[in-house]
Amino acid sequence: MSRVDGIRSRVGRALHQRERLAQLEREVLRGDVQLLTTDVFDTVLLRDHTTEAQRLAAAARRAAPELGVDPGALARLRWEAHASGYRAVSMERPDGEASLTMMCAAVAASLGLGDGAAKTLHDAELAVDAEHLRPNRPLLAVFRRVRAAGVRVVAVSDTYYSEDDVRWLLATVTGADRTGGSSGGLGSRELPIDRVYSSADEGATKHRGGLYPLVAQRESVDPARAVHVGDHPSADVQRSREAGWTAVHLPREGAFRAAKILGGAAALPSALRRAR
Ligand SMILES: [Mg+2]
Repeated sequence: MSRVDGIRSRVGRALHQRERLAQLEREVLRGDVQLLTTDVFDTVLLRDHTTEAQRLAAAARRAAPELGVDPGALARLRWEAHASGYRAVSMERPDGEASLTMMCAAVAASLGLGDGAAKTLHDAELAVDAEHLRPNRPLLAVFRRVRAAGVRVVAVSDTYYSEDDVRWLLATVTGADRTGGSSGGLGSRELPIDRVYSSADEGATKHRGGLYPLVAQRESVDPARAVHVGDHPSADVQRSREAGWTAVHLPREGAFRAAKILGGAAALPSALRRAR
């Protein structure tokens, strides 16, 4: 691709994203919408081109000196906990999700260490992940405007992170002081998201569909008056429409999706490839 074609293609993608955001704002402000739900990863928080395996290895290197263990062995144990965690979920409760808290506890126990070691690993993973995420500021600006118009905004994530973890990542990566659900006005340093639902905490997921009715019930909202936005064509778009939501698809650019698929295929056994 020539340099001019490359610039044209980047401009085209930026215009495409702007059109999708304008469409989202129109859908939400059409008058009868009460709730906007949003995916988190690769929608509000945009990942760089690193793979999950690379980020977990970096977290293991960071946590290993404090735990007094070999970083390579720690990374291997973490992957084993990941595999057995998701295998257990697929057998015991396929509508549920594995949890990072449980996986870190399993790693610490296998090393003969306790809760403190599990927390060290957990904190290292969050800190490393935060370094590979950036905020989607145009989308956050849409959230601020729709909240100002009286529409509640909540995040709904398929993730092994807890709701507290996701809130910490949102606040840290966006530079917000606090989430919007706390008292106070709509300051620019306040995260324009009222609350977070995580599949790990709720025991239901978007990709199996159970998380949408659960959120509608908790938020006391008719799905016909709710809009969902996210990057995943099935978990975010298809499943939310099946639950009665209006969905707006906000995909990452093609080059990013290709790198993610190739990186994921190279790094993970097939059973561990999960849409997140
Ligand atoms: Mg996503």
